Amino acid sequence: MGHRGPDGSALLWSAAVPYESPAPTSRAAAFQALKSLEHEVDLVIVGGGINGAGIARDAARRGLKVVVVEQNDLAFGTSSRSSKLIHGGLRYLEQYRVHLVFESVTERQRLLKCAPHLVAPLGFLFPVYEGDKQPLAMIRAGMWLYDGLALFQHERHRTLDPSECKALVPQLDLTGLTGAPLYWDCATDDARLTLETAIDATLHGAIICPWTKAITFERGAGQRIRSVVVKCAQSGEEVRIKTRGVINATGPWADDTLETSRKDSPPLLRPTKGVHIVIDRARLNLPHAVVCRHPDDSRVLFAIPWGDRTYVGTSDTDEQVDPSEVRASRADVRYLLRAVESYFPSANVSEDDVIATWAGLRPLISEGDSAQSESEVSREHKIFVGDGGMVTVAGGKLTTYRKMAAEVVDAAVQELKSSALLTIELSASETETSPLPGGVGFDGSEGQRGALAYEITKLGIESDIATHLVSTYGSRAIEVARLVKKDPSAGARLIEGRPEIVAQVDFAIQQELAGSATDVLCRRTQLSLRDHQNGLGALDAVVARMQSALGWNSERANEEKARYRHEVALQTAWRNE
Ligand code: FAD
Repeated sequence: MGHRGPDGSALLWSAAVPYESPAPTSRAAAFQALKSLEHEVDLVIVGGGINGAGIARDAARRGLKVVVVEQNDLAFGTSSRSSKLIHGGLRYLEQYRVHLVFESVTERQRLLKCAPHLVAPLGFLFPVYEGDKQPLAMIRAGMWLYDGLALFQHERHRTLDPSECKALVPQLDLTGLTGAPLYWDCATDDARLTLETAIDATLHGAIICPWTKAITFERGAGQRIRSVVVKCAQSGEEVRIKTRGVINATGPWADDTLETSRKDSPPLLRPTKGVHIVIDRARLNLPHAVVCRHPDDSRVLFAIPWGDRTYVGTSDTDEQVDPSEVRASRADVRYLLRAVESYFPSANVSEDDVIATWAGLRPLISEGDSAQSESEVSREHKIFVGDGGMVTVAGGKLTTYRKMAAEVVDAAVQELKSSALLTIELSASETETSPLPGGVGFDGSEGQRGALAYEITKLGIESDIATHLVSTYGSRAIEVARLVKKDPSAGARLIEGRPEIVAQVDFAIQQELAGSATDVLCRRTQLSLRDHQNGLGALDAVVARMQSALGWNSERANEEKARYRHEVALQTAWRNE
């Protein structure tokens, strides 16, 4: 029987059937599954960022037996540190990379359909001033091309005059403003996009094992890599996985992985660092994102509204640092604040307004030209079969991950077939049209969101929490809500006044492969970035919940707290420079 709304009308949403994944969705069970593997697998994928997750999803859906090992949490690397945009990349038009824009806007449309809870349209206001390198007419021509490349299927741009801009963004600098096109791209939650892609892979049998590092690639006949030794980052236990093929999807660690598989591999990457800062939404009060050209170097960056916050980024500087330790410096923060000052001078945003920062390394392909500026380095990806049969993917964008993943699996399948290691016919992966888990039975419309949130409030959950659950989990929000019905203590807020609740910790452990408190606070809930105290006020509650669910002893619980405090210290270290 269908659900009824308060007025008796049929609801637009009906409860999705809870998933019974054939592969584990808890981290402990995933490691157990690795240890219990009796036969060789088709592919070991090293790296659980968006690329590793996307490749696993595509390969598992084609019928391949795959394992993903990730040394930390899923999306620990660049895939939780992006600008969180699913975008065509307007600025690539400036560089005449039209095919890259076309590919990106096509993927944007697909993601909007397959993950409407995670990918949402976002307006971008592009203020153009007298004396700008590109005058308004040229920007508008670019906008028409941008809309055209999306085959006019996405909302089209329109150009606002200065008085309309003032009404929309009162703090925007109007001096010399000639107009501002308002165009549309999409915003996402990069970490959850990665996670749901990985969860979909488990639904098709992939074993996804976070906190497990690939440490040795062992060779068999013909010097081909035939097993991977992995080490549990928490217990130190080692497991040997026999495999037909290996994929290196380690993003900014790609050179380290190549070096582990074969000493003296030539460097592939030219990593650049990108930093974002988070401030209260009320400081700029933006209804749309604003495109800014930095006053120092004319680089494009964005101020992006993000729930009750706004983030500004990104910088783009060459960086040679361990990707695990990359962080914002005070110079980075000041660079971003100068852009804010230039576009919103009356807002007086200062270092004291910065709530959080994040920094990531772009795994860009080195083109051997050190004179090239950081922003000019290609965002395109590279896939190649290297020594021992290892397939490496590097570069690219979050936006195009689905297509890239399909290309990587094609390359891996071809390589396995040519080595006579794969003879079966594979099915189609159908990733262009298949929804991610929270997108099953969910179209993202306001009506459906309201109906689902209403259903959740009927389980005794307050409406702000219900809305938050729907926008975070899509149709799976009901599964989180049911945890509260089963155990009312799971309905408690993690931080007074915020909508994140204890049930999200339980769900992260049982269904979302979380293996540490940092996973929950940084990537499952993003409290580390959104909360004024960087989630420290929730740390004890999260650790206590995980300790009782996972049987941690007090030493482990203390380690977890120390690890999270280290994470926050890294994020806020710029203040002490
Ligand atoms: P990663 O996400 O870094 O994943 C690699 C993983 O490999 C890591 O999790 C790491 O822990 C793991 N690993 C490494 N070594 C091992 C090992 N030995 N064993 C096991 N695991 C290992 N793209 C967009 O489309 N839109 C944007 O708005 C956007 N903004 C960006 C902003 C910034 C600042 C940056 C840096 C990038 C941005 N990008 C954006 C690009 C996009 O984020 C990246 O291309 C993408 O996230 C790369 O994913 P990946 O899986 O290759 O790498």
